[in-house]
Amino acid sequence: MTFTTRFAPSPTGPLHLGHAYSAIIAYKMAQANAGRFLLRIEDIDSTRASPKWEAQIYEDLVWLGLKWETPVMRQSDRLALYDHALDALWGRGLLYPCTCSRADIAAASSAPQEGAPLNGPDGIIYPGTCRPVQPPKGPRPVDIPLRLDMARACGKITGQFEFVEEGSGSAEHITFSTEEMISTVGDVVLARRGMGTSYHLSVVLDDAAQEISHVVRGSDLFEATRIHVVLQRLLDLPHPRYHHHKLIRDTSGKRLAKRDDARAISLYRDEEHRVKDILSMIGLEGSHLTL
Ligand code: GLU
Ligand code: ZN
Repeated sequence: MTFTTRFAPSPTGPLHLGHAYSAIIAYKMAQANAGRFLLRIEDIDSTRASPKWEAQIYEDLVWLGLKWETPVMRQSDRLALYDHALDALWGRGLLYPCTCSRADIAAASSAPQEGAPLNGPDGIIYPGTCRPVQPPKGPRPVDIPLRLDMARACGKITGQFEFVEEGSGSAEHITFSTEEMISTVGDVVLARRGMGTSYHLSVVLDDAAQEISHVVRGSDLFEATRIHVVLQRLLDLPHPRYHHHKLIRDTSGKRLAKRDDARAISLYRDEEHRVKDILSMIGLEGSHLTL
């Protein structure tokens, strides 16, 4: 299988140094392995995504010296495929509607005898308020949030879950059980109102469609990978290898992307900084980027 990796930004704002780091690491890995570097625009959230930010992503990446294959995959072109996967999961009785708000979930999870609500990779672990005893019947409701019934889904799977993590430099086999998925992740949302799919479902379908062999992304998504591995098993998709890289932080340890003064790549560009300045800011100076 050809080494294939990708950079998958959401066009909901400008790219920052952390994005530059992620894109460059993925690009360098593709180069080092004589592989492919693909771009995917994750624009399912039509309330936040805009063509202006998408255009700026291309400009920033060109300026950084990256090249990618065209056509670029855009999630907004693929909504029918996400619907198709949701129909299949619904048909297998694995989804149920849930319109609980965050506040409802927080309230239901913090009953006095329960202690503080537990958090999983997708927020507070859903307490199961809307989970039906029997799978819902009839056609899949559209434009309503749908959750994956994790226990029922795990009932379809035999054995442990496993994925390969290469972020530390060597291949590590990460394993986890169906019981852990139920108790530490729970019923994640797979369809959102207004967007159809959720991030977890689209990312898994798209990585498979783009034949991604290596997912390179920030370590903030490490825990979400367990959800992706479960979906790959349910949908019979291959598991890519994962490379979760460190997050770019300032000297006080704060994530750059989370700082109020986090600076867009475009600002450095406007101030006539050079790409080598960016590389030194993200600790990649001297990196052999063949431009
Ligand atoms: N679109 C996601 C983001 O910008 C990245 C998803 C991924 O790399 O899996 O955070
Ligand atoms: Zn609910």
